[in-house]
Amino acid sequence: IAMMDPLTQAYNRAKFEKVIEAEEERISRYKISYYSIIIIDIDNFKLINDTYGHNVGDNILKDFVANVQKYLRKNDMLFRWGGEEFIIFLPQTECMKAIIAAEKVRNVIEKYRFGYGPKSITCSLGVSGKRDMSDDITNIIKRADSALYTAKRGCKNRVESSC
Ligand code: GH3
Ligand code: MG
Ligand code: MG
Repeated sequence: IAMMDPLTQAYNRAKFEKVIEAEEERISRYKISYYSIIIIDIDNFKLINDTYGHNVGDNILKDFVANVQKYLRKNDMLFRWGGEEFIIFLPQTECMKAIIAAEKVRNVIEKYRFGYGPKSITCSLGVSGKRDMSDDITNIIKRADSALYTAKRGCKNRVESSC
């Protein structure tokens, strides 16, 4: 329970740190593995709250998580990073494959119809992956974040990457 976000039932940030720590340990022991991450930020979420109210915003977050979970692979994990930002951890997945996964999520979200409020939403996604043994999670997150920023600066509802 201490590892779950109470609103959305996604894993929380503390769990993310534990998962990465364990993965890095495994990688340094076996020197064989790699992983990717996808940072997701819902587009114009403040406007959704302002237009339909905070309760609708909360329900959108819950349904968003349930929806994304359905399309993830068994080993992929979804975390609430904060507010309307989420992160997907994809173990043993190359960055190029993670871009494909991110595009799938973008498409699923764009097509999904909520039975209330704004009816549909979009999100922007930034992808990056571990490049080599010395590439650490701080750098990986930094690259995913700057890719996300590029997606936002474009017309949103898009995937950008910094593999
Ligand atoms: P952008 O497309 O650039 O991402 O714009 P945005 O409006 O999504 O981003 P911004 O950071 O301006 O606003 C995020 C909003 O998310 C503001 C905040 O009130 C809302 N928010 C954060 N956490 C929650 C929550 O738990 N529930 C609800 N309803 N709203 C939340
Ligand atoms: Mg945000
Ligand atoms: Mg946003």
